[in-house]
Amino acid sequence: MPVARLVWSPELLQYDFGHGHPMAPARLDLTMRLAAELGLLDSPDLDVVAVRPAPDAVVETVHDPAYVAAVRRADAEGVADPARGLGTEDDPVFPGMHEAAARLVAGSVDVAEAVWRGAAAHGLNIAGGMHHARRDAASGFCIYNDAAAAVQRLLDLGARRVAYVDLDAHHGDGVEQIFWDDPRVLTVSVHQDGHTLFPGTGGPADVGGAGAEGTAVNVALPPRTAGPAWLRAVDAVVPAVLREFRPDAIVSQHGADAHARDPLSDLRVSVDAQRTAAQWVHALAHELSDGRWVALGGGGYAVVDVVPLAWSALVAEALHTPLPRGTELPEHWRGVVEEVSGLEAAGRLGRGEVEFRPWRDGYDPADDVDRAVLATRRHVFPLWGLDPHHD
Ligand SMILES: [Zn+2]
Ligand SMILES: [Zn+2]
Repeated sequence: MPVARLVWSPELLQYDFGHGHPMAPARLDLTMRLAAELGLLDSPDLDVVAVRPAPDAVVETVHDPAYVAAVRRADAEGVADPARGLGTEDDPVFPGMHEAAARLVAGSVDVAEAVWRGAAAHGLNIAGGMHHARRDAASGFCIYNDAAAAVQRLLDLGARRVAYVDLDAHHGDGVEQIFWDDPRVLTVSVHQDGHTLFPGTGGPADVGGAGAEGTAVNVALPPRTAGPAWLRAVDAVVPAVLREFRPDAIVSQHGADAHARDPLSDLRVSVDAQRTAAQWVHALAHELSDGRWVALGGGGYAVVDVVPLAWSALVAEALHTPLPRGTELPEHWRGVVEEVSGLEAAGRLGRGEVEFRPWRDGYDPADDVDRAVLATRRHVFPLWGLDPHHD
């Protein structure tokens, strides 16, 4: 069995809101070029598969049929439907929008199914991770929620419990909302505080609906949180609740927009910190879920010097061949980047700080990251029989 299955074909670049929109398809193109030049795509342990757009029946596992019909209509007629979030500044209508968004859904569902059936240990869809889309509306560059569709497919195939871990700078509100009342799905989102960033939700007191208390977990971090503090927060919450929840599979979203150079967030999480967190999620999948791990992309708007590095590292991690810190980036790739973007390409994978102080060493009530982490632990940990104050 191949270690990992990666969804890729150039049609995925058709998810394109147009020139000047932050979610530029170049981020995927440059990632795949880098992954190729690092030799990752030649690995005998990797299956690369193309997918067709998901049929409506699949999209409708997590969306209202009326919304899918509205997307098709807006696409065909080129008209806005602002009540459903279509034709807004964030989500402009573009030709082929329905098929492009449905292809992302098909990709995440494909790898979820492959992982569940044992066709691969790990599944990757870097074009996916559209975590803001709601059952009945587009939001925040997200038309259809492929992440939720992957979770739903795992449930439909027989998973009793699925954990969703969202490491994007923005709250994973769409996925959380779709499974708000479902005790079979644990959503954990670590993000910049909604008081300071879109979509404005994801406070520590939001713990899930009636009968599902504790299955929504939100860590809302202050702006400027840096890599080591971010890792401290992830480590202080994610492993403990996942171990209590005991998922049959883990779906994770690796939006790379928590980086300091990202133009849309105010966090300062290095590529190295991001890939450290990805390593942890991977290890938790082996510890708790027989390795069943679906890793998705997400946000990420520093499309030249952050996203390709973060997601190539993610692919390497899923192949069990993690890239060493400071890996030199191929000269040819750097040339392509400079030609395409006019910007200077990064020379190496980062060497960001990944040492952090674990929670068991105590917390500092004067530290705003620690206060944010403690708020989450106070709201959620007692629901799982865990001690909010001490590990
Ligand atoms: Zn593995
Ligand atoms: Zn984001």
